[in-house]
Amino acid sequence: MVDLQSQYAKIKDIVDPSIQDVMDNATFINGPKVHEFQKNLENYLGVKHVIPCANGTDALQIAMMGLGLQPGDEVITADFTFAATVEVIALLQLTPVLVDVDPVTFNIDVAAIEKAITPKTKAIVPVHLFGLPAEMDAIMALAKAHNLYVIEDNAQAIGASYTHKDGSKTKAGVIGDVASTSFFPSKNLGCYGDGGAIFTNDDELAHAIRGIVNHGMYERYHHDVVGVNSRLDSIQAAVLDAKLPHLDAYNNARRDTARKYNEAFNNHPNIIIPSGLTECEGICDTCDCHVFHQYTLNLKGVDRDALVVHLQSKNIPCGVYYPIPLHRQKAYMDDRYNESDFPVTNALIKSVISLPMHTELDDEQIECITSTVLSFIDSNK
Ligand SMILES: *Cc1c(COP(=O)(O)O)cnc(C)c1O
Repeated sequence: MVDLQSQYAKIKDIVDPSIQDVMDNATFINGPKVHEFQKNLENYLGVKHVIPCANGTDALQIAMMGLGLQPGDEVITADFTFAATVEVIALLQLTPVLVDVDPVTFNIDVAAIEKAITPKTKAIVPVHLFGLPAEMDAIMALAKAHNLYVIEDNAQAIGASYTHKDGSKTKAGVIGDVASTSFFPSKNLGCYGDGGAIFTNDDELAHAIRGIVNHGMYERYHHDVVGVNSRLDSIQAAVLDAKLPHLDAYNNARRDTARKYNEAFNNHPNIIIPSGLTECEGICDTCDCHVFHQYTLNLKGVDRDALVVHLQSKNIPCGVYYPIPLHRQKAYMDDRYNESDFPVTNALIKSVISLPMHTELDDEQIECITSTVLSFIDSNK
């Protein structure tokens, strides 16, 4: 699904000295590289504060802690996402409220959010799933009307732009009150281990969060709040700082691959190609609305699981993100949920398939993947 070895071979010349620098200085924790990367990412995103931390799951948890959410507060998020999002809500003893997603974008359904709001609701967590920003204008308007926080889970969409109704653009992760991201190796900006960060334009919140990531300390050995220990280590920051200048090129390479996949699959009666690229083309001067963390097809009248087995037999990697809705996971089941509340997620888990997507795919590989998918579908009608 990803090819981190080929990518590393191309940037070895800049990554290795950056790591070596940390070794030579032995500044493994909170070294200058962490600060440099933080500043460079702030500039790239156009956000006032980036607070690095240990991983994307911590980033979400710390964002919620920083907002002062209290046990029993309800937090609305999507049923169709990676479990980390709902996990930290539950861990903080907040009440997760899962809602359905949009069948076209796979992102949280704004009408479903509105229906789920109660007097106890305190926050909405839109996930920019597979690299396409959620409908942020509508979500921000809803949040404003109901006095709710918006925490963007930007683990899959770093570098993507959101196009507002007036045509202006903002980077995903800089629209809500606060956002989290992950630098897990396979993410669009990945390090060589674990890493994450929190973004916000709010000075007070940034200050609160900087203490929380460091044991609740704002002054050495004075613990004002209960915090955590969550740091981005200097070696990972060195990798990320070397890779950040390549992020736009990496995302462009992903979009080029998506465009080629789209050309092969477009207008096929059994295949719905992902949204966010064709719509964008011709509207945006620079098409950067989708960064294709995943390239995900929605199949109609195809035995998806048989296609998975077929691709595996041909040594073509593929993935099913996500095979089980969160509302049906043992850890997150709740009597409040009705199956009829999740028609879209319940259908998507059976019909989606994600194809290899990374920065190093060449035309020959893409052609092999698309022809194998198409010949399976066309011969199994
Ligand atoms: C990867 C991911 C996370 C968690 O990131 P980690 O760094 O693995 O903790 C959270 N949310 C989403 C949507 C993700 O894809």
